[in-house]
Amino acid sequence: MSLYQEETIVALATPNGIGAIGVIRLSGPDAIKIINKVFKGKDLEQQDSHTIHFGTIREGEKIIDEVLVSLFIAPKSYTKENVVEISCHGSKYIIDAIIKLLIKQGARLAKAGEFTLRAFLNGGLDLSQAEAVADLIASNSKASHQLAMQQMRGGFSNELKSLREQLIHFASMIELELDFGEEDVEFANRDELKNLVLRLIAHISHLIRSFDLGNVIKNGVPVVIAGKPNVGKSTLLNALLNEERAIVSDIAGTTRDTIEDEINIKGITFRFIDTAGIRETQDIIEAKGVERTFEKIKSSAVVIYLFDPEETKEEELETILADLKAVTAQNNSQLIVVANKADIHPFKSSRADVLQLSAKEKQHLDLLEEALLQAVNVNLLNSDEVIVSNIRHLEALQKTEEALGKVMYGIDNPVTSDFLAMDIKQALYYLGEITGEVTTDDLLENIFSKFCIGK
Ligand code: GDP
Repeated sequence: MSLYQEETIVALATPNGIGAIGVIRLSGPDAIKIINKVFKGKDLEQQDSHTIHFGTIREGEKIIDEVLVSLFIAPKSYTKENVVEISCHGSKYIIDAIIKLLIKQGARLAKAGEFTLRAFLNGGLDLSQAEAVADLIASNSKASHQLAMQQMRGGFSNELKSLREQLIHFASMIELELDFGEEDVEFANRDELKNLVLRLIAHISHLIRSFDLGNVIKNGVPVVIAGKPNVGKSTLLNALLNEERAIVSDIAGTTRDTIEDEINIKGITFRFIDTAGIRETQDIIEAKGVERTFEKIKSSAVVIYLFDPEETKEEELETILADLKAVTAQNNSQLIVVANKADIHPFKSSRADVLQLSAKEKQHLDLLEEALLQAVNVNLLNSDEVIVSNIRHLEALQKTEEALGKVMYGIDNPVTSDFLAMDIKQALYYLGEITGEVTTDDLLENIFSKFCIGK
């Protein structure tokens, strides 16, 4: 155990502010000893793991609060250390007073993410699972929740570990060849190695490709509504947003901080970007409007292009759509073309790539929602497929892929075993970075400092 883990840490685990209950968490070798000094009730040092005890927390004779204390004795806890959770009344005064008291008795305030860092250092979680804890806490839709849960439960790690083990086997065979120096021996069958590397590259590039989906799920799918002034962009935006709010407020007793300009369709969050721009469109002259559309497409995953059939000639539409298709394809984003105002001017064309609806009358909005879901590859989500959603993982995978490319080159060309061994080691290093077999203090600091205190 490092010196640093000999300290017992304390933090509030529930959100700051007033609540019915606040939970304060202690972790470290002295967690139970420290709480026992200020707790009046049973002798907590004599109790079993996974038990709950009622009593009071006192500073001298003064009662600060009546509390419930839960005990988790090492190694049967989240951090694998002794852990104590104190459920007190959720008053800021009480919480502060208890934390101060615990610090006086020898605990120190936890740093951001320190509980989870300890869980990682003590082998309770690997690094990608620890990162998933933060994602799980931040998840705000069914899809992002599913993604984080899968990662936390080790789906991604298990896959990488098995890839890594196969490579390690070959690396050790090649090392063995090196030991034989001048003799011309090949323990690592080059054809088998080539096969393995090809499989690894295919697998890793598949994971890399999944990031586009993982990223939009985690952060919401950025959508732009584009079109000339007065075609009904703000009406459509409001119709979509209102529909969502109406559904949400239908559920009795729910309150929700509605995030402006976001909707949730079947568990996927769609984020309408540059909506301020839409609301101001009246002031933008037409040519500028089109120019701005192309600008905006760059930051979106889906573009809804809205037009008014009455105001748009067929040839003009052809030209605009051809341009938009080129730009969206280049940007790897999806295009949904919508003819609005169907209530007064139905779009008379047999084009299959144009949806018709009325934003004002809220007709056929469901078609648009369906098209939005189709635009992100939702089918993937429903499978058990591992999806990468973390930029750090993406970067490590890209570096692994590059290193494996070099290994491939090394197999096909007359390079010596030591070069081959080096490239394999490089690939192993980057794979190991994801799950934490390979770490540096900077890397850990960087990951865990993004957590909240108390996690
Ligand atoms: P924007 O400039 O593209 O944001 O367009 P607005 O949403 O401000 O709409 C311009 C005008 O078109 C407003 O008077 C809307 O009421 C009207 N409008 C929008 N959608 C529809 C629709 O589906 N049917 C009809 N009849 N009018 C619509």
